[in-house]
Amino acid sequence: MVLFTWYLVQKDMEFLPPEIDQYSAEHTKSEPAYLKELERETYLKVLMPRMLSGHMQGRILSMITALHQPKRILEIGTYTGYSALCMAEGLANGGVLESIDINEELEPLVRKYVKIAGMEDRIQLHYGNALEVIPALTGEFDMVFIDADKINYSNYYNMIIDRVRKGGLIIADNVLWSGKVTEKKEKFDKDTQALLDFNKMVTDDIRVENVLLPVRDGLMMMRKL
Ligand code: SAH
Ligand code: CA
Repeated sequence: MVLFTWYLVQKDMEFLPPEIDQYSAEHTKSEPAYLKELERETYLKVLMPRMLSGHMQGRILSMITALHQPKRILEIGTYTGYSALCMAEGLANGGVLESIDINEELEPLVRKYVKIAGMEDRIQLHYGNALEVIPALTGEFDMVFIDADKINYSNYYNMIIDRVRKGGLIIADNVLWSGKVTEKKEKFDKDTQALLDFNKMVTDDIRVENVLLPVRDGLMMMRKL
């Protein structure tokens, strides 16, 4: 359970007025039925269900991926597989999404929905600490989604930046951390400080073009130059 404590301390925060959130969701295509079912099962059976991307962010990830048409995606932080299934929708023909998670207890649930979605040939799961699994995966990536432990965001970025092709896309989730990154404080908790450092590092890095999209909990989008 230690693995999850970084999310336990996070409090809920809505950035937009609820009616704007609701209107936006009502005017966004529905997700496939199996994703609604996966969301329901995650909320029933798994700890910290708020970590799941959900309808709006899922549709955004699917849209971005479909526009980018990657052949190979790396996801760091599978959880119950929601974001993986959304991004896999947008893979190029014959493309593959590889996803890493340290919590192998979730594997049967993820596999169940990968099968229902008919995506067994498109999604490969790896279990272990991402810091150890990433170096073991060889080759280049067209897209990387960073969504595991916040404390290691900068490490993950540094590990993958030379392995993303020119024009490739990197997205990091939760970079606004419920707004904690804007608090006026002398000393921040470890996760908030890690995200502050990550956001600054990326913005200062001449190897990428970046935009912080204030969507949900903050999506940092980076394009490799
Ligand atoms: N991407 C998912 C949510 C991921 S939640 C979605 O949007 O639906 C974050 C996940 O990161 C958790 O499942 C947790 O087990 C995993 N994680 C935390 N630390 C990790 C590490 N060091 N290596 C690999 N995975 C890790
Ligand atoms: Ca997330």
